[in-house]
Amino acid sequence: MIRFQNVFKRYPERGEALSAINFEIQTGEMVFLTGHSGAGKSTLLRLIGLLERPSRGQVLVNGRNLSTLPRREIPYHRRQVGMIFQDHRLLPDRTVFDNVALPLVVMGVHPREIGRRVRAALDQVGLLKREQATPMALSSGEQQRVGIARALVGRPPVLLADEPTGNLDPNLSREIFELFERFKYVGMTLLIATHDFGLVNDLRHRTLTLDEGRLVGDTGIW
Ligand code: ADP
Ligand code: ADP
Repeated sequence: MIRFQNVFKRYPERGEALSAINFEIQTGEMVFLTGHSGAGKSTLLRLIGLLERPSRGQVLVNGRNLSTLPRREIPYHRRQVGMIFQDHRLLPDRTVFDNVALPLVVMGVHPREIGRRVRAALDQVGLLKREQATPMALSSGEQQRVGIARALVGRPPVLLADEPTGNLDPNLSREIFELFERFKYVGMTLLIATHDFGLVNDLRHRTLTLDEGRLVGDTGIW
């Protein structure tokens, strides 16, 4: 589902953020991506989401080589890849419903279908009753779950999360990871960048480790 072939990423003023990265993730795997701050985790996720392009090497997602993807297929690719951020990036003045609906509105989905799919996504994260709340009225764990619902609503086969529990206490963090495990069991492919070594060790999923832009560890599938 995701394949990196000798991928390098250099930022002009910073040098190499990723060097000679090779790995493959199969459909339906849940994989952790760990490493110190600045190790290259966000960069790696951004390459998969096509928010950045590699300086060298190939990134393949679902059999498509992102380097040679025609421009007109970029929106289609982005719909294949849901992204979740640490700061969840919700619109503070819109309701939970509207925040989750946003990707579908952008895609031009029919309003009736939007209602159905937004409620299905909110149901998956246990927030059906909060659809008319604004993000500020929610706890930080609930806000992150809204961010997850928004990433899910387009039914992407791949879900990427960048430090999704960075601002949450251990119990809420565990709930979020358990939610991800449920997605894995319905066939989603997940790659989760995290510093949360406690949960990584507890939950025992395949773990890739970056150190200064190099892939220094891969536990393989547990
Ligand atoms: P992590 O997510 O593991 O903290 P990042 O991928 O954010 O690592 O960063 C890897 C390296 O690349 C760091 O040295 C960081 O400062 C640098 N970097 C990340 N994004 C950019 C950018 N847009 N421009 C320049 N340097 C960047
Ligand atoms: P994360 O916490 O997800 O690792 P960062 O704090 O590394 O994210 O980066 C946040 C944003 O700042 C990203 O969009 C990244 O591209 C940008 N960025 C990170 N490091 C640098 C840098 N050294 N120069 C310019 N932009 C950077």
